[in-house]
Amino acid sequence: MNLSPVFEPTAKMRDTLSPAVFIDRDGTIMEDIDYCSHPKDVRIFSGVLEALRCLKSRGFKLIIITNQSGIGRGLFTLDQYRAVEAELLRQLGDGLIEGTYYCPDAPGQYSNCRKPAPGMVVKATRDHQIDLSRSFFVGDKEIDVECAHNAGVRAIRVRTGIQRDVTGSNADWVADDVPAAVQIILNAKS
Ligand SMILES: [Mg+2]
Repeated sequence: MNLSPVFEPTAKMRDTLSPAVFIDRDGTIMEDIDYCSHPKDVRIFSGVLEALRCLKSRGFKLIIITNQSGIGRGLFTLDQYRAVEAELLRQLGDGLIEGTYYCPDAPGQYSNCRKPAPGMVVKATRDHQIDLSRSFFVGDKEIDVECAHNAGVRAIRVRTGIQRDVTGSNADWVADDVPAAVQIILNAKS
C-alpha cells in the first residue's frame, strides 16, 4: 500500500511509541505512612526494585503517578515533597523511572490532575510517546483503578496499601504486591 507523504509521519510516530507501566507511589512502591514529608520515611517494599527492573528490561517505560494533596492541604511544602521524591529515585537507582508526575491539589477543589482524573497520565503519555493500548496502571486504591480506566489503561490493584479490602473493585486484576502485578503484566503481554 502506498501511503501519501502526509500520512508518513503518523506511521513513523506509531512505530516509536512505547508501552508504559504507570505506578502509584504511596502504598504501592513504598510504605504509605500518610503524607510522607521526610526522606527518612521512604521505605520501598521488598521485591519492588527487582520487579521494576524486569519491566524496564522488557521495554516498558516506568512512570510514577502520585496524588500529593499534602501540598495543597498545607501539610508539607513543595520542597519537602521534592526531597522525598529525590530520595525515592535515589533508592530506585538512576535511569529506572522515566518520569514522575505529582498532583498537589487538595480534594474538593477543581482538578484535572488529581486521581481519579486522568490528567497526569494524559500528560505523561504526550511527554514520553506512550502507547496506552499496550500499557498498564498499578496502584493500591480504587482511585488508581478509576484513573487508569479514565485514561483508557488496564488496571491492577495491589494490596500493599492502607485500603486492602478490594471487594467490588473494578480493577482488571488484583495482585498481592508489585512483584505479583509484574507477573500479570508479563503474562498479559505474551
Ligand atoms: Mg497509593
